[in-house]
Amino acid sequence: MTVKDNLNTIQQRIEHACSKANRNPGEIKLIAVTKYVTVEQANEALQAGVLHIGENRDEGLLQKKKHLGEEPKWHFIGSLQTRKVKNIINEVDYIHSLDRISLAEELNKRANHSVKCFVQVNTSGEESKHGMSPDHVVPFIKELAPYQNIHVVGLMTMAPNTDDETVIRECFARLRDLKKDVQALKLQYASCEELSMGMSNDFELAIEEGATFIRVGTSLFE
Ligand SMILES: *Cc1c(COP(=O)(O)O)cnc(C)c1O
Repeated sequence: MTVKDNLNTIQQRIEHACSKANRNPGEIKLIAVTKYVTVEQANEALQAGVLHIGENRDEGLLQKKKHLGEEPKWHFIGSLQTRKVKNIINEVDYIHSLDRISLAEELNKRANHSVKCFVQVNTSGEESKHGMSPDHVVPFIKELAPYQNIHVVGLMTMAPNTDDETVIRECFARLRDLKKDVQALKLQYASCEELSMGMSNDFELAIEEGATFIRVGTSLFE
């Protein structure tokens, strides 16, 4: 299968999930996660019509961007070490892994523009997962007020790797509920309209639970 064939299949899966959930497929933005693939493969995805690229390491992002340029939107989806912020902050359109005040401080200091951030939430409670506990999200976002370069566009989560659909759905539903809590704060710097959730194995469930960005690697490039 070519990347283009895979993309077609993914688009059909998106449309099917949307029709089940009575949603408009135009609301779902697909991020092609290129962390395992070459520049050439990432370029195939762009040629096939992908508009968003996601990378989880600074070297990978900078290398891909050098070749693929400013045309796609660039998403940093990995956990971000504070000392690496300066390498990427002015090269990306979105950061999906804001999870601590020290990171907010560094982002704010190094950015030369307002950065679109997702606050990463550990909705499953698994220790191996990054992100803050759901209880901390609202107080954390209130604390971001002094950081003028940070705009919280949404929340991000990763569901556990399980076959139990109920567990996965609960994680996604939790994120959707938290988004409402943040929106109720009516903070100008935290419009929080987006939900970044769903990967190759679970993006249909994520769409049914309200995802607006899905992050797909394996299904696109396998
Ligand atoms: C790798 C990765 C993805 C893509 O996962 P696939 O299962 O390959 O689709 C999505 N989100 C994050 C944060 C990742 O690190």
